[in-house]
Amino acid sequence: MRLAVLGLSHETNTFSRVAADYAAFSILRGEEIVRRHGTATSTVSGFLGAADRYGAEVVPLIYATTGPCGTITRDAFERILDEMLARLRAGGRWDGVLLAQHGAAVAEGYPDADGEVAARVRDLVGPDTAVGMSLDMHGNLTERMVASTTVTNVYNTNPHLDADDRALDCAGLIVRTVAGAVHPVQALEMPPLVINIVKQFTGEEPMLGLMQDCDRVAALPGMLSASVAEGYPYADVPEMGMACLAVHDGDPAQARQAARWLAGRAWQRRREMVGDTPSPEDALRHAAAARRGPVVLMDVGDNVGGGSPADSTYLLAAAQRLGIRRFLQALYDPAAVQTCIAAGIDAPVELAVGGKTDDMHGRPVAVRGRVRRLSDGQFEDLRPTHGGGRFFNQGPTAVVDTEDGHTLVLNSRRLGSMSIEQMYSVGVEPERYQVVVAKGVVSPRPAYEPIAAEIVLVNTPGVTTSDLSFFDYRNRRVPLYPFEKDTPYPAGDENPGASPPNPRGRR
Ligand SMILES: [Zn+2]
Repeated sequence: MRLAVLGLSHETNTFSRVAADYAAFSILRGEEIVRRHGTATSTVSGFLGAADRYGAEVVPLIYATTGPCGTITRDAFERILDEMLARLRAGGRWDGVLLAQHGAAVAEGYPDADGEVAARVRDLVGPDTAVGMSLDMHGNLTERMVASTTVTNVYNTNPHLDADDRALDCAGLIVRTVAGAVHPVQALEMPPLVINIVKQFTGEEPMLGLMQDCDRVAALPGMLSASVAEGYPYADVPEMGMACLAVHDGDPAQARQAARWLAGRAWQRRREMVGDTPSPEDALRHAAAARRGPVVLMDVGDNVGGGSPADSTYLLAAAQRLGIRRFLQALYDPAAVQTCIAAGIDAPVELAVGGKTDDMHGRPVAVRGRVRRLSDGQFEDLRPTHGGGRFFNQGPTAVVDTEDGHTLVLNSRRLGSMSIEQMYSVGVEPERYQVVVAKGVVSPRPAYEPIAAEIVLVNTPGVTTSDLSFFDYRNRRVPLYPFEKDTPYPAGDENPGASPPNPRGRR
């Protein structure tokens, strides 16, 4: 049994002004994919694992990805997709194709870029080849994705700690489909609902209970898979929002009933899915006054994993203004790093740091301090991390201790806070600080929960702010809760949330 592995994975923040052009993508081919993902815990890692687990011949073809940022240029999308299809065509006959997509990719001219990839792959391999696709929980699922694949599934965890497990599940269903053991039919239900980014942690309500409901659906007789995609609110596309997907062995009606029931369960929790986070000043005062540190402040508006620039200065400026000391944060500022390198270790420096990418993430903040350490910024983390990465690169890095009692880890590549090695690898111990800023919402949790006395999500401005009224949506569905408070659902009389699916699987 021959299975091809390929993907174009991007989470597109259509409000970001940093375009994803061809040069922005890291493109791995053939054995490079194995070297990079063979020992990681990513979606691609899970697909590669199908060789050992199911004895299939798994052939990695191409995997293109770049950090979350703005819309993919038409040139980049078409060039990468053309190469994907060319490699698929050149590989001969496939029993199955495994697609490692994100689910929230938007390209110029292709608002549903993942659906486009899946549809073009389906066109190439024909209706009789099994196509599996495993997506990030932030995917904005579409009917086109589902119609173009045999099985689609989504991570079950946020932070994402099961990317490889879910990909392996998806591959397993494809193997069983090829063997004729199962006949997957999929149903997608999209309640008109957006869950705020600050409510997406699957370890707490409302998502904790909803994922338990998802497990109940997956355990029904004949049910092959169940997924809840939280969706990605920073992609202004018609399908933006939550989606529920059920895959049944042969019975479309049961798949549909299960997906609708799950969507109804999400809808019942909608009032718990609205954001309610403190302002930067309130969060900083609370953190400074806490009896025990460090208090980790999630800089939601500069969620690098969501497409923000990593150089927001709202929290730094407020900490300076409020006189808060023992404060630590990383900040993207390649020019400031070069100044520090020129000055040298132990040298005094005067810098204007951060706030340089655009006018949505604060202004540069003037600081005076001393260069403690310089580094090339490469590091490795063997702990569990969001998304399962192992090797990281924050580019040339300078650690600066300022006269305000702050430590700034200035770096040259936009990197979120999903690995605490970002700090340890440059000799900084976050445990020693009272206030630590993490750029992200949920992704920093695996890294910082072990040392945090408390985690506080902060309503900072920016292209990933939790305050969705900040954005001028042009393409989203209307009505959509909570934008339109009186959004009706379900349409008509039928209430999918009224009763759980029949556990015996009969209608
Ligand atoms: Zn995600």
